[in-house]
This record gives sequence, structure tokens and C-alpha cells, in this order.
Amino acid sequence: MSDAAADPAPRDPAGRDPDCVFCKIVAGEIPSTHVTEDDLVIAIRDIAPRAPTHVLIMPREHIPSAADLADRDATLLGRIFARAAGIARSEGIADGGYRIVTNVGTWGGQTVDHLHFHLMGGRPFTWPPG
Ligand code: AMP
Ligand code: ZN
Repeated sequence: MSDAAADPAPRDPAGRDPDCVFCKIVAGEIPSTHVTEDDLVIAIRDIAPRAPTHVLIMPREHIPSAADLADRDATLLGRIFARAAGIARSEGIADGGYRIVTNVGTWGGQTVDHLHFHLMGGRPFTWPPG
């Protein structure tokens, strides 16, 4: 394991970026279609869904992308994936199968720099993605 994973630079103690659209959604400053939330995570419907079910699951805390995750985020990541499994069941897509994706950076197709996982289902997906 690299030292960077075990001992990352500290994050902003405020936990948010004033210019970040998802931080504004977390704070309730702009509207969203709520799916579920808890102390660490919120889930909303994607404003431009690419599948019959398209939910975004994100930390309340501003973390720019998966490239910024470290050992300290183990609990958060466990929570995100547990919530994804629960939402998949409640959305009725668990049996058919679904996809969980997080895009990183320009070539990864990331457009909002606040860590989020796309939970998509309700149709088949191809592999590899485009
Ligand atoms: P990515 O391109 O992987 O960073 O994903 C960003 C996602 O956020 C896209 O699928 C957008 O449609 C979605 N999105 C952007 N703004 C909003 C918003 N205000 N409410 C809900 N989803 C949004
Ligand atoms: Zn943010």
C-alpha cells in the first residue's frame, strides 16, 4: 500500500466547496429529487437519466473524485455500496442486474467534481462502455 493512501492530505474541515452543485444539493440550496439519505450519504435522481432507474449516490462531504479516496474513507464507501444495494432492491432492479459507475477526470467523463456513483438499471448495458 502506498503512503498516499494511508496518510492523505487533510480535507477542508468545512467539508464543502461553495461552487459545487452537489454541495448545494446536499445543503438543500438547490432542488433535487430525493431518494434516500443518512448521516454520511445522500441519493438523488439524475436530472438527465440515461436508464429507467438512474440514481446518484454521493457523500455529504465534498470529495472531488474517487482519485481522492483513501483508507480513512472505508466506512463511507461501505455505506455507499450498501445504500446502492438497498436502492436497487427498492427500485425493483436488483433481480435483473444493474450497473454502478463512478467517472474520474476528463477522460473518465466526469462532469461534476463531487464524488458520486451512478446506479443505473432497468435496461441491459453493454460492455465495455463507450
Ligand atoms: P458525471 O458526468 O459522471 O460527473 O455525472 C454527473 C451527473 O450529474 C450527470 O449524469 C448529470 O446529469 C447529473 N447532474 C448534474 N446536475 C444535476 C442536478 N442538479 N441534479 C441531479 N443530477 C445532476
Ligand atoms: Zn461538493
